[in-house]
Amino acid sequence: MQQLLQPISAVQGSKPICVNNVVYGIYQVTMGIIMTIRDYQKKLDAILQCYETPYWSPLSNAAHLAEEVGEVSRVLNHMYGDKPKKASEDPDDLAGELGDVLFTLVCIANSEGVDLQDQLQSGIDKLQIRDKDRFKKKTKSIA
Ligand SMILES: [Mg+2]
Repeated sequence: MQQLLQPISAVQGSKPICVNNVVYGIYQVTMGIIMTIRDYQKKLDAILQCYETPYWSPLSNAAHLAEEVGEVSRVLNHMYGDKPKKASEDPDDLAGELGDVLFTLVCIANSEGVDLQDQLQSGIDKLQIRDKDRFKKKTKSIA
């Protein structure tokens, strides 16, 4: 569980809201705002409903998601893979590309009526219940 929280809590100025090791949302310290994934879905939907076509078609969203995942892969390949980056290329932005993936996932979830909050909780439940003995845990040190 702790390893899952590290990438989230590593975001500058953000802290996860946890109750009994369940992440309910991200607390943005600098803005003083608490926003759950469900809040984010609703906020984005309210913004997009101002457009004639709030969401792209499912296949266009799927293609766009593949593009954004590819951009994440490209950054990681530059960081850890064998493909060197051209000197003429802009600096890589892993956080920005991960944000693009998340944004696109939220668009897909909203357009298909999926509550990501429930699905994220389901993922944690799988880890803590179904797979609780599946992976080797750290042993506690004796102080
Ligand atoms: Mg992108």
